[in-house]
This record gives sequence, C-alpha cells and structure tokens, in this order.
Amino acid sequence: MSFQNPVFIPGPTNIPESLRKACDMPTIDHRSPLFGQILHPARAGVRKILKSDDAEVFIFPSTGTGGWETALTNTLSAGDKVLAARNGMFSHRWIDMCQRHGLNVEIVETPWGEGLPADRYEEILTADTNHEIKVVLATHNETATGVKSDIAAVRKALNAARHPAMLFVDGVSSIASMDFRFDEWGVDVAVTGSQKGFMLTAGLAIVGFSQKAMDMTRTGTLPRTFFDVHDMAKGYDNNAYPYTPAVGLMNGLNQACDMLLSEGLENVFARHHRIAEGVRAAVGAWGLKLCAANPSVYSDTVSAIRTPNGFNATDIVTHAADKYGVAFGVGLGEVAGKVFRIGHLGSLTDVMALSGIATAEMCMVDLGLNIQLGSGVAAAQEYYRGHPAEFQKDAA
Ligand SMILES: *Cc1c(COP(=O)(O)O)cnc(C)c1O
Repeated sequence: MSFQNPVFIPGPTNIPESLRKACDMPTIDHRSPLFGQILHPARAGVRKILKSDDAEVFIFPSTGTGGWETALTNTLSAGDKVLAARNGMFSHRWIDMCQRHGLNVEIVETPWGEGLPADRYEEILTADTNHEIKVVLATHNETATGVKSDIAAVRKALNAARHPAMLFVDGVSSIASMDFRFDEWGVDVAVTGSQKGFMLTAGLAIVGFSQKAMDMTRTGTLPRTFFDVHDMAKGYDNNAYPYTPAVGLMNGLNQACDMLLSEGLENVFARHHRIAEGVRAAVGAWGLKLCAANPSVYSDTVSAIRTPNGFNATDIVTHAADKYGVAFGVGLGEVAGKVFRIGHLGSLTDVMALSGIATAEMCMVDLGLNIQLGSGVAAAQEYYRGHPAEFQKDAA
C-alpha cells in the first residue's frame, strides 16, 4: 500500500509533516505547568479561529460527535424542545442524538442539496410564543452533500422572531477552513473536531460555549460525566483535566492554530475557496452536476458530485482506491450511490487538487462514463492560472 498520495476525503484530512512531529512527543506530567503551556495557548488559538473574544473553549479526548453530545448534555433537560432542519447525513445524526437523549425535536425536512431554511426557522420561532424551543441546531457545512448554510441568516431569524433560543452550530467541516464568526453570528455553542480543518488525526472534540450557554449549563439536567464542562473548567484552572488528556494531539492542535493564524485566517479561507472553484470548474467540464442546489450553497471544503442515473457513484471510490491508491468519499444516506465526494480541505494546494481531479477523471473514463480525459484538469488549470494564490501573485 502506498501512502504517498494525498487523500481527498472530507476528513480525516492530510496531516502536514510539522503537525505529525508536534504530536510525537515524550510523556510529560499532564498535571503540571508544562502541560499548561500546551493547553492554554491551544484554547486561545481555537478562540481566535472561532473569531470570538470570550467563548469558553473546551477540548475533549473524543471526536466531533462527542462535541455534539457536549453541547446537548450540558445545557438541556429531558423533554426540552429543539428545532433542527435535516438536509443531510450529519444534521440527521445530530437530530438522532437529540432523540436518543429524550429531547423533543421539531424537524424541518429539507431537500438534500439545499441549505438550512432560515425563513422556516423564523416562522416556527415566531409561532412559538411560549418559547418552548430551547435550542436551534444548525449544521454550517453539510459534509454529506457539500452544502454550506448561512448561519448569519439563522441568527437573523432568531432575532426577527425575538426568540431567546440558543444557537448551536456544527462547524466540524467548516471551522478553520471556511469563515466562521462565533461572536458576530451570536453562536452559543460551536462544535468541531481535530481531523478536518485542524489537519490532525481524529481524537479531539473542540467546542466553544458563549457566556449565555455557560449560564444554561446551570439549569440543564441531562446526565453528563465525561463531557461535563464544569469538571473540565475546574481542571483547566489547575493546568489539568478531570482525567488524562491526549497530550500529543493537544500539542498538535496548538501548532495547528499557530500555522493557520500565521497563514492568516482570511488567506486560509481564500485558499479553500480557490481550490474549491478549481474542483467545481472540473465538475462543470465533465458535464456533471453538484449535489448542492445552487452556487450560494456551494461548500469550499467538500464537493458531492452527482453521477448519471444508473451509474453507481461508489464504484468510482472503490476503483480509485484499488487501481490508483487514492481515497475519495462515498455518498452517504439518501445520496449513497448517487454521488461521490471530493474533499478539498485542510493541508492542500492547487497542485495537490489537480492530482485528485486527474485521478477522478481517470476513474470515470476507466468505468465507461462519457468524459473526455483531461477536460476537468484543463478547466481547473485555467482557473488556477487565472487565480494564483496570494503568495504566488508576484511570480504570476
Ligand atoms: C465529520 C463530521 C462530524 C462527525 O465528526 P466525528 O469526528 O466523525 O465524530 C459531524 N458533523 C460534520 C458536519 C462532519 O463533517
């Protein structure tokens, strides 16, 4: 098996050499000021990436899914009402988790490929005059469909309805890759993980709580132990955890934040947008369509590409792995077999993206799709030639 090729799955993402090294460290006392020198800067770095001045950042040995559970169990009580739209596999799974915790979810069924319906949220919130809805869930970037949603519009819906519900946002496949504004959007809990925009292995759930969400932890009665944010906060005061932290990964996270902040967040977002535009140019040249319904919802971290009716899109993923040693993402849930996904987030350049586009093209031609070899690559090349990265502009 060759590990030379980059992966093109929407997480876990490619790990830069410097971050691999940062995670590889000798054992230290995890209840010591030395650990504090990793913990506190990592939390401060995450806060900056969230664009927040005062969010409480908690980092658990877990994954994004544990971040969802942290958000729910620390703030809510059994029977509490939650409003959520289902427009893909990840929003579905968060809803499923709510139901398993005995929460009462009002589900807005939304076509897969469309963004969250902020206007429906506003109608439902306006009608909820008794303010029974405690939390609105919003998946910023639906990784299953390659759809981004407008979180500012969801906040506007809450404000227009003069509704006090909290806004919990799943930013697992957007934070650190796409613009995310915790304070400006009035986000109350943001959830992410280590293996997507932060370019590390899976192993950390990363969450930000607003002060309002911290207040809500005092009334929520759902059981929580491992994910209790107050136990965690007490630990942090002593440069420690209530249990054993994933020290190497935390060191990696600290370095990842430095890397992202020294590239400049706006540059990071612009890089993701440029790479994504190249991928989309290729998809257009292939004569294929994205699952995402229209350009306003195109995700800059993952593209879900529809294949012609009667063709099993998963064959592309299997074939790419078998013949070329390259990983793409399969379709999930409702779009299984109908789409394949190219993940284009994390540690990636135009040049790497071109290799993924070229491989997808070879697979589709191998499998008999009516696609001209080189057509997608050429379209992406044209885009990248015309839109060089900031640091390359002088050379161009
Ligand atoms: C990956 C992902 C998750 C799940 O995260 P895990 O780390 O696999 O638990 C949740 N939401 C979105 C949008 C994701 O992309």
